[in-house]
Amino acid sequence: MRQLSNFHTHSVFCDGKDSPEELVLEAIRLGCPALGFSGHAHVSFDSCCMSVEGTEQYKAEIRRLREKYAQQIRLYLGVEQDAFSDLPTEDYDYVIGSVHYVPKGEKWLSVDESRESFLRNVRDCYGGEFYAFAEDYFALVGGIYERTGCRIVGHFDLITKFNEGDCLFDTAHPRYRSAALRALDRLAEAPVLFEINTGAVARGYRRTPYPAPWLLEELIARKAGLILSSDCHDRRDLLCGLEGYRGLPGLHETPF
Ligand SMILES: [Zn+2]
Ligand SMILES: [Zn+2]
Repeated sequence: MRQLSNFHTHSVFCDGKDSPEELVLEAIRLGCPALGFSGHAHVSFDSCCMSVEGTEQYKAEIRRLREKYAQQIRLYLGVEQDAFSDLPTEDYDYVIGSVHYVPKGEKWLSVDESRESFLRNVRDCYGGEFYAFAEDYFALVGGIYERTGCRIVGHFDLITKFNEGDCLFDTAHPRYRSAALRALDRLAEAPVLFEINTGAVARGYRRTPYPAPWLLEELIARKAGLILSSDCHDRRDLLCGLEGYRGLPGLHETPF
């Protein structure tokens, strides 16, 4: 059976552990037909993203590797464009559109930095109302195609990163469900693929990938396009947890 590929890959140019070349060699070792890099696009207030100069070095390095390894693997230069990234995307082969921050007043509230900051943000800026935070988050997610022109929607329900077992809020709550479904319906009209993203599984935060099983069912019912993604930050997790999702209806092997 043909080996899987991954198109959501971070390297030392942002918050990944490995150099792009180490990741290429791992993908070749695993027999991946393709590998796509998706460095975090520059965001002025974010510390995990590529710097402005680093972005140019990143592009040059992926292009160098694409030439060097052309006989062994297809390499793609992509980007994970945050809703508030401020650099253009036309140099890239594809764009993953992701929401990592929700603006509130003067602040940018991180969705996925840590459990502590998540709880603090909801307490201090939403009076402890998780569903109000979820509504603002999903309103941004629903607009991510218009904002970024993305081909791939990154980690649709990232807001559940610290909510394994619904320990913080109830994902069956009508306000949560309708906010998520509004975003899903809006995006399902656009020419996008939704990730099945195992990043939080690899790092031990969740037992199932994004999106949650009930949302995946809703996507399949709408005949949405899907793509497998490990959101790799460590080459040992390059294809983590993806194997079990082979053969899912709507699944695309590549973004192209
Ligand atoms: Zn992300
Ligand atoms: Zn990512």
